[in-house]
Formats: sequence, C-alpha cells, structure tokens
Amino acid sequence: MTTDDSGSETQALEDLIDPKLSPLIQLPGSCSEKPHLIGSKCKSCKEIFFPKRVICPNCLKEEEVEDILLSNKGKLYTYCIVKAAPLGFDAPYAIGYVDLPEGLRIFSPLAECDQEHIKINMELELVVDKIREDETGKAVYGYKFKPASL
Ligand SMILES: [Zn+2]
Repeated sequence: MTTDDSGSETQALEDLIDPKLSPLIQLPGSCSEKPHLIGSKCKSCKEIFFPKRVICPNCLKEEEVEDILLSNKGKLYTYCIVKAAPLGFDAPYAIGYVDLPEGLRIFSPLAECDQEHIKINMELELVVDKIREDETGKAVYGYKFKPASL
C-alpha cells in the first residue's frame, strides 16, 4: 500500500466516525501506525482523564490541562454481553471496562462477544470499527477493544 492510499483510507475512515467520538480518537497517519484515544493530563497534579477534560477537577485550573495520547493496549477488567440492543446496534455485542497502563479504567465496546474468547484480565488492543448504523442505514464508526491475541 502506498502512502497516498493510506492517506485517503484514513480520510474515508474519519468521515465514518461518530462526530461525538472523533475528538477522542487519533487515527493512524499510515498503515504502520495504530489508532489511539486522546485523553487529558493535568500538568499540575499529573492526573490523567478520559474522556478529555477542559478543567482539572482536582486543581480547577483550565490552563494546566493538555491533550495526551493514551496507550492503545489495555486489560479487561470486566464485561457483559448485550442481548437486547438499542435500534441501530447488532446484538449480541459486548461492552466492558478496560484498564489502561496509565491507571485509567475506561468504558468501551468490545470487538469480540464470544464468551469462549473473552477472559477477565486478557490483553486488549484498541481498534476503530463499526459501532452501529444511523437512521439512514449508514455505518457509524467508533472505538472498540479487541483481544490482542486475535
Ligand atoms: Zn490537576
């Protein structure tokens, strides 16, 4: 794949991402890179947040908070399988809490919902994938975690 191809692929993917989620996701600039979630870090107390914060709730200072790229690997803390999906979602699917090396525990859909493949504390990797379909049937993308071994 040439650099031009991956560039247009990234652009096409960007257009599919839920506008509410796109400020939280950094797409890979080339096919050798991986997507990352964007969090915030307070320069004063060093606490890291996801989703991003404008003001640190500890220090209450706006100018102290900066965007950081979070690790795209994590460990599964817990999960559940959703069998009664909202409109636009395909059931069954799994959602869970993922522990990142930064000390954050974030809520995320999982790319795998076969209970034989999901184990508590398993290594997970961030992916950008289809989450649902909108009212017109168009695919809406967001972030998920998939088992790092798959
Ligand atoms: Zn702070």
